[in-house]
Amino acid sequence: MTSRPFASLSTGQFPPLPDTMQDEWQRKAITILQGDARRSADTHLIKPSFPGLEGISIYLKDESTHPTGSLKHRLARSLVLYGICNGKIRQGTTLVEASSGSTAVSEAYFADLLGLPFIAVMPHSTSRQKVVEIEQCGGKCYFVDSAAMVYDTAQRIALETGGHYLDQFTNAERATDWRGNNNIAESIFQQMEGEEFPVPDWVVMSAGTGGTSATIGRYIRYRNLSTRLCVVDVENSAFYDCFVSGDRDVTCSQGSRIEGIGRPRVEPSFLPDVIDHMIRVPDAASIAAMRILSDRIFRRVGGSTGTNFFGLCWIASKMIEAGQAGSLVSIICDSGGRYGDTYYSEDWVASQGLDLAPWTDALERFLNTGKLELPRRPS
Ligand SMILES: *Cc1c(COP(=O)(O)O)cnc(C)c1O
Repeated sequence: MTSRPFASLSTGQFPPLPDTMQDEWQRKAITILQGDARRSADTHLIKPSFPGLEGISIYLKDESTHPTGSLKHRLARSLVLYGICNGKIRQGTTLVEASSGSTAVSEAYFADLLGLPFIAVMPHSTSRQKVVEIEQCGGKCYFVDSAAMVYDTAQRIALETGGHYLDQFTNAERATDWRGNNNIAESIFQQMEGEEFPVPDWVVMSAGTGGTSATIGRYIRYRNLSTRLCVVDVENSAFYDCFVSGDRDVTCSQGSRIEGIGRPRVEPSFLPDVIDHMIRVPDAASIAAMRILSDRIFRRVGGSTGTNFFGLCWIASKMIEAGQAGSLVSIICDSGGRYGDTYYSEDWVASQGLDLAPWTDALERFLNTGKLELPRRPS
């Protein structure tokens, strides 16, 4: 920080008024980020049909088609814009992030667009494919032993390099303009406007940073809609316990098996007060649901989309039981392209000790008949 000229009535010093603190590089950077948005079309809201689900319309917002392949494209653009507008990112600033993968892939893309160095701090377990994508954008990867170590390490590297820690887990909920203006919630509700049931009964979404569910929950309230928000969590994650107990200090020692969602701690961007209901989905159910959805829409989706789809089926089954008609919306968070060696591999599923068959049978039967009988209840 350079010293600033100041005016002081007490000393009678009145230097000339300064120029704006926003420099030429920052102006150009904002134009470049807005250009990325302008060149992008809105993502599809697809409406697959399921023969057994009479009266229930299912919609999926397909975030896999962004240039960097996931809903993290929106987040990365917002985080970088937020950093520039806060005066934290300037020409030559090193961007640093704690990430298990998708966010870092998208941020590396934007750092490259702006000509900024980028360092991702990630667990050793991060998929090789994501590391390759980050490095292809000119980013560097710094590996740590556990998911819990990423935060402090990223902060330290930012300090040492004089860089900026983008901090998705803190800033996701605030970097998005929740009242609208290119956020995912505004887009969903606008795309629903001409539909038979334009105001969805429920939106179902999983939580990684919690930022997307926070944006959707706030938007629902801001617009006075009757839509409810259901957040689906996974086996090894602190979010569900926090929602049930109200305790933000709960932790979970084991890392989540479903990439992108489930966290060892309750992230600051997770806002339980805008969530109406939560369900914890068994990992085997998430992966079974992921594969079934992929079969039915003819392309592979990621694991967290399976978690979302399972939650959607659970809510749809409750509506059918109650004789209700209406619409439900969830999100395709990323494509299955990065998970060929994991969720789509029989060897991997067996190595994890997961049995998908009972969940697959129950879900297939449900989508064909509207009756859901689960091997065991989600909590
Ligand atoms: C980040 C992520 C999510 C969760 O979104 P948040 O807004 O961070 O809660 C879900 N699926 C995938 C693949 C993700 O990368």
